Amino acid sequence: MSSAPDVTRLPQWFRQEIPDMQRISQMKGSFREKRLHTVCESAHCPNLGKCWGQGVATFMILGEVCTRACRFCAVKAGLPNELDLAEPHNVALAVQELNLRYVVITSVARDDLKDEGATQFSETISEIRRLMPHTKIEILIPDFSNKMESLQIVVAAKPEVVSHNLETVRRLSPKVRPQAQYDRSLAVLKNFKDLDANIFTKSSLMVGLGETDEEMKYAMADLAEVGCDILTVGQYLAPTQLKRHLPVVKFIAPEKFKEYEVIGYEMGFKHVMSGPLVRSSFIAEEGYTEAMRALQEKSVL
Ligand code: SF4
Repeated sequence: MSSAPDVTRLPQWFRQEIPDMQRISQMKGSFREKRLHTVCESAHCPNLGKCWGQGVATFMILGEVCTRACRFCAVKAGLPNELDLAEPHNVALAVQELNLRYVVITSVARDDLKDEGATQFSETISEIRRLMPHTKIEILIPDFSNKMESLQIVVAAKPEVVSHNLETVRRLSPKVRPQAQYDRSLAVLKNFKDLDANIFTKSSLMVGLGETDEEMKYAMADLAEVGCDILTVGQYLAPTQLKRHLPVVKFIAPEKFKEYEVIGYEMGFKHVMSGPLVRSSFIAEEGYTEAMRALQEKSVL
């Protein structure tokens, strides 16, 4: 008789090295001083020690209160604060001060704004380009309700990578992110590719929410179908024990992550990162560099 999986304790493969506390406190100081938020802190990311220790962080713009209430996410939901017009410049200053050569910018959802925050993304990109012209920029956006004007605004700013997360398989999507739509997310990724094929698109799936293997393969195939270049797959971890957050259904073994990676490459993704601690922005620079290399190899053939 097989016993139910123990989801009350993290498996040993989640153990991490002791982080560089000096670097972490330097980064924290810089963000506090400029009133900046990071998704690393707001989403209780398990990789914070590792990423910040290496000088890598993901900025979260447009405030720290989200107009949506996804059931996997730790970010506060409710009525957002006033837009901080100094934020694009302050993000760029932090990028300069910390000398970041690759930066990921994400945001809360801002359904209350006409452009849902697209202009703030665009201005943040421009400010970073002005102060740090060699820094590569990846943006991880909400779905902007798939409004073409908003997508065009961010495409015109020319980030190197546009990421939008599908998060989970079709069946679980309404439960995991009630205010989003599975097909709308796919349409957002497709529209970005249609608007500018030179910008890499990227998406992320969480596992351990009760999805089947078959459903995962369908979700990956759906992403491949809309031309998504980079895929990440990681273990879902419940941010709190509160009822509004979904519990972990299963801890997926590292071998299964490897399998998803192999399948992803067979489906044609340029880069796949799959592992228990992988998050959309985890070692993001590697995803970009590898996708670029795959593209160059293809053009040589
Ligand atoms: S994985 Fe992303 S969100 Fe998590 S700590 Fe690293 S940069 Fe921040």
